[in-house]
Amino acid sequence: MKERFKNLLHENKMCYRRFHLIRPLLYQVKILEDGCKGCQLCVHVCPKHLLKLSSRTNERGYFIVEWEDMGCIGCGLCYVICPEQTIRIYAKIENG
Ligand code: SF4
Ligand code: SF4
Repeated sequence: MKERFKNLLHENKMCYRRFHLIRPLLYQVKILEDGCKGCQLCVHVCPKHLLKLSSRTNERGYFIVEWEDMGCIGCGLCYVICPEQTIRIYAKIENG
């Protein structure tokens, strides 16, 4: 019984460690605004609808796209489709 309890404790510790190894990643999308030409390709391709055209314009006079900071799954579709290569995606391990 004591041995079994010990094993169980060990297994739980291992699960805990594994859980920390596979903690979800948080994604941060950054749009280099001066490069954006407002084509909205990224808006249409985002499966989570996190990108939208804003009412702000950049130095070139184009309306720029904004990213809503919630629920990004880091699929990278916006990054791949952007013809101006103005989208950057960063990932970090969630704290806590
Ligand atoms: S990485 Fe995917 S989910 Fe995140 S903003 Fe881009 S298209 Fe949307
Ligand atoms: S695809 Fe690129 S250039 Fe087009 S709106 Fe999105 S960020 Fe701007």
